[in-house]
Amino acid sequence: MADNRVVEGRMVTPKKLAELVEGERVMDAEGIEDADHDCPECGGDVVSVGYMPSVTAFVTGYKCQECSWSERDD
Ligand SMILES: [Zn+2]
Repeated sequence: MADNRVVEGRMVTPKKLAELVEGERVMDAEGIEDADHDCPECGGDVVSVGYMPSVTAFVTGYKCQECSWSERDD
């Protein structure tokens, strides 16, 4: 899938990326996009992914492609 990206040296799907941000399994995830800011920890490229941690919630997760930094917006 073209949506897959390399994060921390591993190829991940949108759903796998969402699970890295959330720390557990998620219901569903949209495509991976480039975020418009750099990682505050290492200055690396940040990608974003919109996902549903449960049937009633939708959040946007951000993840550095180089290090373990991540963040989520409710
Ligand atoms: Zn980083």
